[in-house]
Amino acid sequence: MTPPRRRHTTRGVIHCAATDPHWHGPVDIETIRRWHVEERGWLDVGYHVYIRRNGVIEIGRDFGASGAHAAGYNADSFAICLEGGARAVRDDQGRFVRLEGVNNFLPIQFEALRVMMLSAMIKYPELDHWVGHRDLPNANTFCPSFDVEEWVRQEFPDGPREELRAYYGSDQQLDLFGD
Ligand SMILES: [Zn+2]
Repeated sequence: MTPPRRRHTTRGVIHCAATDPHWHGPVDIETIRRWHVEERGWLDVGYHVYIRRNGVIEIGRDFGASGAHAAGYNADSFAICLEGGARAVRDDQGRFVRLEGVNNFLPIQFEALRVMMLSAMIKYPELDHWVGHRDLPNANTFCPSFDVEEWVRQEFPDGPREELRAYYGSDQQLDLFGD
């Protein structure tokens, strides 16, 4: 069984792995895939792209397939996940209590995110709207631990699509991934 294909890609959803870099140590896409497939019983890792703390971009689920990352929005959205985004809260004895959301991402992760967003928009001409997981209606999560819409406004004052056109002269000249 394979995940259904997306007919449209109009939205990008940013996630975090909700990992504490100190408490969990490095967490790669294969670890996330194991969590999603073995522990949650999904068909594959839920995200399309994963950005490590060193900025390396790891490929997750088949780009054309519906992801498993935001209930109600998987059929028309592309999912990018950043490693980190949480902190382990401990009690007086140092025992783990819970994870809380924190923007502990590194500058190079935001650089990679920027590149990945523009690349995805070249691949998907309908993709114009970027949100954080927590910004979706009925999402009960701290993910991705930062304000995506505010960050997008700062990074792309004229909007991501306009930046793409200004940079490449067209927003469809370069397809980094092919079909
Ligand atoms: Zn999420």
